[in-house]
Amino acid sequence: MSTNNPNPLLPLAGKKGLITGVANDKSIAYAVAKAVRALGGEIALTYQNDKTAMYTRPLAESLGARLFEKLDVAQPGSLEGVIEKCGNEFGEIDFAVHSMAFCNGEDLHGRVIDTTEAGFDAAMNISCHSFLRMAKALEPLMAHGGSLITMSYLGAERVVRNYGVMGIIKAALESAVRYMAYDLGPKGIRVFAVSPGPIMTRAASGIANFNQLLEADAAKAPLGHTVTIEEVGALTAFLCTDGSSGMTGQTIYVDAGAHIVA
Ligand code: NAD
Repeated sequence: MSTNNPNPLLPLAGKKGLITGVANDKSIAYAVAKAVRALGGEIALTYQNDKTAMYTRPLAESLGARLFEKLDVAQPGSLEGVIEKCGNEFGEIDFAVHSMAFCNGEDLHGRVIDTTEAGFDAAMNISCHSFLRMAKALEPLMAHGGSLITMSYLGAERVVRNYGVMGIIKAALESAVRYMAYDLGPKGIRVFAVSPGPIMTRAASGIANFNQLLEADAAKAPLGHTVTIEEVGALTAFLCTDGSSGMTGQTIYVDAGAHIVA
């Protein structure tokens, strides 16, 4: 972790990172990328396939991303290949954001005991194990420490209707964050899960009755509203800065306080 930043107004000046999971301008990862750039960080962005490239290439250009690479974490070697390119471009990496999830629709909405082995494996591999693999591939590029951040959800801790097996996967992801923080702490690498309240994104549109979830959340939240991707972006960008140097291993809610209310 470099601590001698000469510009306190741009706390990410001179820092370089990888941001995954931009599908369009509604994506949480897009707001993270914007917030990181606003704080002076340099970024590599990824897109999942040629279909999403159509929407994400103009975003990458407008953000001034130094790399724009295809990444499908379900394809062997894809993640490691992208990280090798990050190494070639940046030399060192200071932060990485994992904002990717996948689950078959029937596994979200059915009973969890009906989840097939293949469905469970795919959801766990893409949404959780990829974060472990990301950390492993990035470790040699993070000799001076830094931050690794993933996105979780309240369904990890409580039963949320229509979240099904994804709740189990997010619970594993939050546990992974703690174990990774323990393993990587001696290297100065901090690991976080950010847990946003519900936001209408492409991934969220696959969850049945999502509008009801949004309404219920706004009604429950002490701040009286649901959060925006910009609010998630601001928190995540802060976690990438040296300002979070005393923290690691946590799940941090950005949900207008909804999770504290029964
Ligand atoms: P999104 O659809 O914009 O982003 C999901 C991303 O996952 C997409 O960019 C997609 O390309 C990527 N992805 C899926 N499978 C992939 C694969 N095999 N390889 C590479 N990328 C893959 O939706 P979002 O809401 O911005 O989701 C981002 C993260 O935030 C997810 O982890 C999601 O679970 C989490 N989250 C979302 C909400 C919400 O309400 N929207 C709340 C809490 C947590």
